[in-house]
Amino acid sequence: MSEFDFSRELIAWYWQNKRDLPWRNTSDPYAIWVSEIMLQQTRVEAVKPYYHRFLTALPTISDLAHADDEKLHKLWEGLGYYSRVRNMKKAAITCMEQYGGRLPETRKELLSLCGIGDYTAAAVGSIAFELPDPAIDGNVLRVMGRYLAIDEVITERTVKEEIRTFLSSVIPKDDPGAFNSALMELGATLCGPDKDARCGGCPLLPRCAAFFQGRTTELPIRAQKAPKRIEQKTVFILQCEKKTAFIKRPEKGLLAGLWALPDAAGHLNDEEARQFLENQGCAVESITALPNARHVFTHIVWEMKGYLVKVHTPGCYSFFEKEEAEKLALPSAFCAYRPFLW
Ligand code: SF4
Repeated sequence: MSEFDFSRELIAWYWQNKRDLPWRNTSDPYAIWVSEIMLQQTRVEAVKPYYHRFLTALPTISDLAHADDEKLHKLWEGLGYYSRVRNMKKAAITCMEQYGGRLPETRKELLSLCGIGDYTAAAVGSIAFELPDPAIDGNVLRVMGRYLAIDEVITERTVKEEIRTFLSSVIPKDDPGAFNSALMELGATLCGPDKDARCGGCPLLPRCAAFFQGRTTELPIRAQKAPKRIEQKTVFILQCEKKTAFIKRPEKGLLAGLWALPDAAGHLNDEEARQFLENQGCAVESITALPNARHVFTHIVWEMKGYLVKVHTPGCYSFFEKEEAEKLALPSAFCAYRPFLW
């Protein structure tokens, strides 16, 4: 049997089949970094417009380091996980202070930057600086869990190490970026998370253990997911003359530091809602029920009851004119209530 060259087969397939994505047409380390952060927990199609808009508004690390937080949140509005962009800004400041306004080029230095973990350091390092470091994300774990037919839970540290050892032995020194991109591409296209891997066109098929064992639907083995915690909330659109109230959320926890609609814990009926607002110093003029809404976060689900409330006095809330409010980033958790804002 002829020798199977894992990386050569994989990279050849990649050059013939890769999707034309905007961040694949640049060699700018900053743009590559931006794309890798945006792509964490977000679909490729959703990222495309954000990527262009972000780089147009903040074309350099210096621009990012000097951007104010409201502008950053607005550029990120709808992408979720806002801590990603705040961490990028902190990392950009470090780049300005310690690396002459550039991303550092070693794994150790990349890992020292805020918001850059193992995966991002390897992805950016290999694509931008040709560091031969395997980038292992969920896609890659899935592909390799199948290719090696690993019978343990795929997210276990020992399993990751086994995969890292294998990939480190085959990643080419002359094109590690294409290698990492190819493996991610395979996981995003043919060897996807649905049960049916499309093995027919896969470059790894000649040595794929799961394929030959007929186990592509059963592998990889995933950990049992903990059930999400349900939180019931009452959300208010408070209007006073032509202004609407927004609150700044605490600096720690869910949606930290973002502007949001005022809320109360639990599902309040009309009378309880009125009482709650009066306790916050608002004189309530009228209260109208809005449709219920639901938002799913990574570990929590918000089940929301909404009210449109006209008040005479603002109480403890900050009210904004429409023009000012449109500069604030409203998290997508509240998007069901956006049509009722004005
Ligand atoms: S042969 Fe099928 S299961 Fe194996 S790596 Fe390729 S797509 Fe995945």
